[in-house]
Amino acid sequence: MSDSLSAQQLLRIRSKLETVVNDQAGSRQADSAAAALQRMRSGEYGYCVECGEEISAARLAAKPDVALCVDCQALKDEEEDA
Ligand SMILES: [Zn+2]
Repeated sequence: MSDSLSAQQLLRIRSKLETVVNDQAGSRQADSAAAALQRMRSGEYGYCVECGEEISAARLAAKPDVALCVDCQALKDEEEDA
């Protein structure tokens, strides 16, 4: 069972990210989407920027600009709550 994104899903996500970059220019969401597009170009998209673990396709589909895996996100949320 593969949990990776299909080429078609990736294309859909990319166009979603491009829409956010264009429509919400200057916002935090646009910055985040632009960073995700950058990771796509460099082949790092879909991997956690903290630990390098593969991020699940379901998580990416739900939140295309996500940069962290669930574990790192949980740690970060804890830090921010503290
Ligand atoms: Zn991680």
